[in-house]
Amino acid sequence: MTTTMNSRLRQPSFIKYAIGLVCLVILCLSASGYAQKVVDIPPTDADIEAQLDSYLGDDSMSSAETTTFLKNVVEQLTPATPLMSVVRAKAYYASQLFYNEESKRAYSLLDVLKQQVNASGLVDAQAEVLATRMDLLNIEGKRGDAFLLVPELERLLKQTLTPRVRFYGYNLLSSIYVDWRRYEDALKHLLAAQTALNQMDSALNQGRRLYLLTSMAGIQNSLEQWSAAIETVNSAVSEAQQAGHDVLAYDLWFAKYYAQASLGDYENALDSLRNAYLLAKKLELDFQKVIILNNFGDAFMKLGQFEEAEKHLLEAREKAKALEFNEMLSTIDFNLGFIAVKQGDSLGIKQMEQATDEFREDENLSSFELEQLLGELANAYETLGNYRMQAQVLQERLTLRQQISEQSQQQQMAELQAVYKSRDNAQQIALLEQQNALKEQIIANTRQQQVVWTLFGIAAAISLILLLLLYRKSRQANQRLNTANVKLSDQSLRDPLTGLLNRRALQDAMLKRDVNDQYHEGLLLLDIDHFKRINDKYGHATGDAVLTEISRRLQNVCRDSDMLVRWGGEEFLFYVRQVELSSLKRLASRILEAIAKDPIKMGEELIHVTTTIGFSQLPFAGVSEDQVDWERALQIADMALYTGKTQGRNRACGVTALHVDYQQARKALEHDLSEAVEQNWVELTTIKGPNA
Ligand code: GH3
Ligand code: MG
Ligand code: MG
Repeated sequence: MTTTMNSRLRQPSFIKYAIGLVCLVILCLSASGYAQKVVDIPPTDADIEAQLDSYLGDDSMSSAETTTFLKNVVEQLTPATPLMSVVRAKAYYASQLFYNEESKRAYSLLDVLKQQVNASGLVDAQAEVLATRMDLLNIEGKRGDAFLLVPELERLLKQTLTPRVRFYGYNLLSSIYVDWRRYEDALKHLLAAQTALNQMDSALNQGRRLYLLTSMAGIQNSLEQWSAAIETVNSAVSEAQQAGHDVLAYDLWFAKYYAQASLGDYENALDSLRNAYLLAKKLELDFQKVIILNNFGDAFMKLGQFEEAEKHLLEAREKAKALEFNEMLSTIDFNLGFIAVKQGDSLGIKQMEQATDEFREDENLSSFELEQLLGELANAYETLGNYRMQAQVLQERLTLRQQISEQSQQQQMAELQAVYKSRDNAQQIALLEQQNALKEQIIANTRQQQVVWTLFGIAAAISLILLLLLYRKSRQANQRLNTANVKLSDQSLRDPLTGLLNRRALQDAMLKRDVNDQYHEGLLLLDIDHFKRINDKYGHATGDAVLTEISRRLQNVCRDSDMLVRWGGEEFLFYVRQVELSSLKRLASRILEAIAKDPIKMGEELIHVTTTIGFSQLPFAGVSEDQVDWERALQIADMALYTGKTQGRNRACGVTALHVDYQQARKALEHDLSEAVEQNWVELTTIKGPNA
């Protein structure tokens, strides 16, 4: 049975670490140095970078020396060191801690670093930290955990500018996809790594290119593209060997052997295997030496050189025993059994059956390897002529093949589900973050709105209060003004002694008067008789009091529609609306009585007062107001008053009719009423007061 490169997966853990370390160093070595051409790449510290490059270029350091060296670099970091160099130094140191079997420390260092780079938002740094973690997970055998992080690393690498990080990341992704038999994706990422390589400019580019070619050959073998794999190896192997990249050269020779053996070209396959064996010896890869010796046995077996085959297998067996490389022991025993069968020793089949049983129980053995093994077991049964067992084993192999195909389908489904789950998780987190941000925004907006509304409310309330205060104040002011105005206008229209309306009030009323009014109106002008005497006898103050009493009495006579005015010193005027001549006469009579009937009591004194009235109708004696207006009519009333004085006072006189045309009597009516009376042009009516 041929032992493939995949057998490494079944090696003890420290072997895995050793191989992982070699791969990581090669990756880093290949990835070191970066393009000065790309302008936007994040800054680095030249000194730190040079030290890390020198570490990668030097594979002579022991594990302890490497630890000290990297620790020293980390100690040189200061707060001023650019983040990219901090991340690179600490990531290398974390990897070294991991190889020193201090995985807890390694992961917690990466945890701290992750927080730092996430806070910085620097994508290149985030990608390097994540890639390092995935690398370690993968080497540790936590392939599922590493695979779950693939989408995140792919997302970060798309935005990463540093070619070194892109080269490292894409190579890592390629190897992860190989592990998951996703060869197309592995190739795609290998090409991306190659693109990153083209953007780098470093003396170490040769190693990087050879590493890519080695990976390519591995993928081609996995895809069973044997000739292409051989071609890839041929383009790289001698260059790798000349440049001293022995680990790469070993991998390349082994890949070439595997492709040649698969093509059935065992002669050439043996040559390749010899080259690989020399390098394994040089590099002291003891486990690899066992694998190669077993494969020598297998190849010689296929060539029918059973003695040669047995010789190599026995040597392999001895070495495997010494190394306690038990998984390989079963394979070697199986191959030895096969040789025995081929050489006619039927007992060999027992050995093969026993080894097969062990493989069947070995959970770590891949279905592919068991399937290959069953093919050879069937071959052995055929050689022995045991066709029944041959058929049975072939049936088992067929069932296994079906299982493999189902398994690979299930595996693919599981992968897809894992990818879906990781993307879904990421989406859910993003969604939750968005929702939270939205909620916070809404809360903030609501708060802001509340504040705005509250402020608005307060402002509105204050404004309203101010407006109300202003309104009240202005209303009060207006009221005061109105009151003052009313008072003022009232004062201007009233007589201060008696409180009666004054001459101006009458003039105002007359201006507003409707001349076309069909009703008659009347004017009665009063003059207190011999008032001088009252003043002289009782003093001016008593005179005032008498005037006040007179006005009170006159007010009692006055109707609401009438207007009573203090016309002058001891003169009063009645302006009477809607009044016929007879009523006017009665009013005059009532006034005479109101004044004269009872004496006015002033202290102990009883003062007898009378008045004389001149009255006139409006319109005057049927003459239109165009000819005799209210002022002229008042003039006639004044003349009638004078007539009353001359007749003996305490009486009312009025021109109540015209016997002639107004024009004829006009002059006399304007200047001398007595003449008009004498000529009998007018009718003069006299009404006597009490006791007159
Ligand atoms: P008669 O009218 O009957 O002819 O005699 P009389 O004494 O009333 O004469 P006249 O009308 O000419 O004089 C009016 C007097 O009234 C003159 C003035 O001293 C007096 N008088 C006018 N106004 C007031 C006033 O407000 N108070 C007082 N106490 N006396 C006044
Ligand atoms: Mg007078
Ligand atoms: Mg008088």
